[in-house]
Amino acid sequence: MLTNHAPTAELQAIDAAHHMHPFTAGAELNAKGARVITRANGVYLTDSDGNEILDGMAGLWCVNIGYGREELADVAAQQMRQLPFYNTFFQTTHIPALTLAKRIAELAPGDLNHVFFNGSGSDANDTNLRMVRHFWAAQGKPEKQVVISRWNGYHGSTMGAASLGGMKGMHAQGGLPIPGIAHINQPDWWSEGGDMTPEEFGIARARELEAKIEEIGADKVAAFIAEPVQGAGGVIVPPDSYWPEINRILAKYDILLIADEVICGFGRTGNWFGSQTMGMTPDIMTTAKGLSSGYAPIGASIVSDRVAQVINEAGDFNHGYTYSAHPVAAAVALENLRILDEEGIVERAGKVTAPYLKAKWEGLGDHPMVGDTKIVGLMASLALTPNKDRRANFAADAGTVGLICRERCFANNLVMRHVGDRMIISPPLVISESEIDLLAERAWKAIDETYQAVREQGLWQEA
Ligand SMILES: *Cc1c(COP(=O)(O)O)cnc(C)c1O
Repeated sequence: MLTNHAPTAELQAIDAAHHMHPFTAGAELNAKGARVITRANGVYLTDSDGNEILDGMAGLWCVNIGYGREELADVAAQQMRQLPFYNTFFQTTHIPALTLAKRIAELAPGDLNHVFFNGSGSDANDTNLRMVRHFWAAQGKPEKQVVISRWNGYHGSTMGAASLGGMKGMHAQGGLPIPGIAHINQPDWWSEGGDMTPEEFGIARARELEAKIEEIGADKVAAFIAEPVQGAGGVIVPPDSYWPEINRILAKYDILLIADEVICGFGRTGNWFGSQTMGMTPDIMTTAKGLSSGYAPIGASIVSDRVAQVINEAGDFNHGYTYSAHPVAAAVALENLRILDEEGIVERAGKVTAPYLKAKWEGLGDHPMVGDTKIVGLMASLALTPNKDRRANFAADAGTVGLICRERCFANNLVMRHVGDRMIISPPLVISESEIDLLAERAWKAIDETYQAVREQGLWQEA
């Protein structure tokens, strides 16, 4: 194991010299130095200066079970000793792969009974993209290949997944999107709803799907992909009218639904899957993150009987990853699912923790700078705004105020992320009521310090 005996500045210098960070302005970070996280337990991180930080983001939306579960470490060590690796390409399988596939099929709703394993959520969405196109081609419809997705959706960082995603900053680098992907607008009522009621707006945004299908031609559209609740886009919760209307449209045109459950899956929304919470019936679910609570990298495409049957009977599916169903990752995921189930963590998150967090989170809405407190299960967001009645943005560039708030959170030993000027949380599902109290206390303090800073810096201006 790597131990940390060096002073923080020395570790930061090595990091700056050699480590390129994801989604980061490298030079800027290198000049300032990254915070070095050295250990974690429960919902707390410890850094190299000994600070204890409440992790309101469960790592990166993934440590559902909380940090420090010895059982997962033991299972990993045992599996490494017994069978550290074997592939599943050439007519072989292994116990962790088949056991985990069966367990996932039991947990997944409806006829989602088949699992294709991947190394991550991005990999899983690349799998899904190829799978839905192959599904139609195998039935004599090779031109039915466009996948519709949403602006400000997030589906990962590989060429396929980032193309499916609707992050314009990502599309601007590296020649994206790839062909055959079309985007529609997101159901974000607070920012884009204008004078419509949320219900009217939900229907209007869903009907953009219908308009796009008509424009492209239903015989050319393979699938629609969406997160049940957008995560990286800012925890955008669609109006209640949205998903029922989407369901109607998909059924009408015989278009597959891929639910990207990478964040929502495995308890985040208070049920095992976000599709259950939001009333969706997907043909494929993308999962990763919470599947192993982040203790090992693994993703799973969970596939319906209908799709699996066509793919299985169409000869070789020419797709796969060396680490598909990696035995160590699969064993860790299985142990994670056992604990989530047997300790009633998912059930408690939905029935007890979510309502408690909701009351506290909505309480932050009493602050003069906070509007649109939104929460589903244990994922929540709020808008920082200079005028909540008008749902106004700040005049400063989006993210200016959000970044100040994130820094104030960090300074108060709370990890809360910002997306533009929205603040978001997604804490470990095991967070206790007293830890939620502390989270809300620190969040209020950080928001209030941000408010002071915004006033002092002359940023309290409406767009
Ligand atoms: C994180 C995420 C992904 C990508 O998963 P990686 O494991 O980072 O590749 C895909 N979809 C959603 C909704 C995500 O939040």
